[in-house]
Amino acid sequence: MRVYSTLQRTLVELPAPPGPVGIYLCGPTVYQRIHVGNARPYVIFMWLARWLRLRGYEVTFVSNITDVNDKIYAAAPGHSVELADRAADWYIEDTDRLGLGRPDAEPKATETMEDIIAMIAELVAGGHAYEAQGDVYFRVGRYGDYGQLSRQKPDQMEDQEPSSLKKDPRDFALWKATKEGEDTSWESPWGKGRPGWHIECSAMAAKLLGPSFEIHGGGLDLVFPHHENELAQSRAAGQEFAHIWMHNGLLRLTGEKMSKSLGNVATLEAVLDKDQYGWDRETLLLFFMTAHWRKPIDFSPETMMQAHTQVDAFRELFRMKIDRAAWKPPQGWNPDVEAQKFEGVLDNDFNTPDALAILHKARSAWDDEFVRERLGIFGLESLTVDEEAPPEIVELAEMRLSARAERNFPESDRLRDEIAAAGWEVRDVSAEPGYQLVKRD
Ligand SMILES: [Zn+2]
Repeated sequence: MRVYSTLQRTLVELPAPPGPVGIYLCGPTVYQRIHVGNARPYVIFMWLARWLRLRGYEVTFVSNITDVNDKIYAAAPGHSVELADRAADWYIEDTDRLGLGRPDAEPKATETMEDIIAMIAELVAGGHAYEAQGDVYFRVGRYGDYGQLSRQKPDQMEDQEPSSLKKDPRDFALWKATKEGEDTSWESPWGKGRPGWHIECSAMAAKLLGPSFEIHGGGLDLVFPHHENELAQSRAAGQEFAHIWMHNGLLRLTGEKMSKSLGNVATLEAVLDKDQYGWDRETLLLFFMTAHWRKPIDFSPETMMQAHTQVDAFRELFRMKIDRAAWKPPQGWNPDVEAQKFEGVLDNDFNTPDALAILHKARSAWDDEFVRERLGIFGLESLTVDEEAPPEIVELAEMRLSARAERNFPESDRLRDEIAAAGWEVRDVSAEPGYQLVKRD
């Protein structure tokens, strides 16, 4: 199993199973409902953890919740604690709807404060950080490898947080003295204050995964400064930290203008909400499969409709009620060869679009068993279960059948619409009972 790592700029092999494989993914800063773009890393790394377990790895997957951050103070002056608590609940609620389970640990910065303060104190003691009027800054100039992750030269680096207290514009805050209007603070050797964002992640990763672990993940937008700073401060503290740095491509909104005019923002909640975007979880998951995790992905009505069409195609396969005993692999379809290819494409940089293509090939060959065994990796096992229509819908379909027999087409059309309004599609088929009911979303 190998994956592309930003740090080495190449594919890096994981140790042989069972590993262990520790994965740390930067989770959301909680001050509002998460955007559908932030659901992408969550989905990719939940899938990756599942796949690695299937391949025999012992995986510990940690994804944090950033509940102390400038953005939270700015969003709710004086009420940051309440907002962070509420938004953390929203995040759990919204991602739960994806049906992929949860990471093994979801630490919060507020629950890791002792470790964070201890790590800062260690950096100060080692000369890697300095105190200035209650703030503590990381001394970038003392860490020779700074820039190794983002491959930036020192003179090209932008000053992320200008402050007259810094000795070098590249230095960044590990600890910030409490400012007016901030309603949370912690006691520290440098006075009352709160940690910077980067040190929170370094401390949470080390607390749960130890000083050395396999994979650190996050969106491509986190390479600099967040991950560059995490790596620098953890290594300066004597830790090996993550070997592999996986950065997922970002989600681009091409239909956003249209949806904003409807008053909708593409939060994960809105995308899955029947009264807003109204996509089902299966469509969203399949949509994420269509792009390689390192590439950008375009979220638009068109691309979501394409994903929905594919979801329907898989559902269709399991509605066909294939007689497995009579099924023979058609020409060009060898399940054993394809099973190896499927493993191969996922083992080689977790290529989900190629895996999806193999599943479609299996679908065309009517190999329902092949598809059923593999859709579950991506949380799509629900596509393999055909839902029975409830009695009231069956009754409407029977009434429609009678109306058609009497050539009462206006009544038959009315009943078709009534069935559709209840979320079902009625199709005329020659086999008994003369119709087929298909669940629509
Ligand atoms: Zn982070």
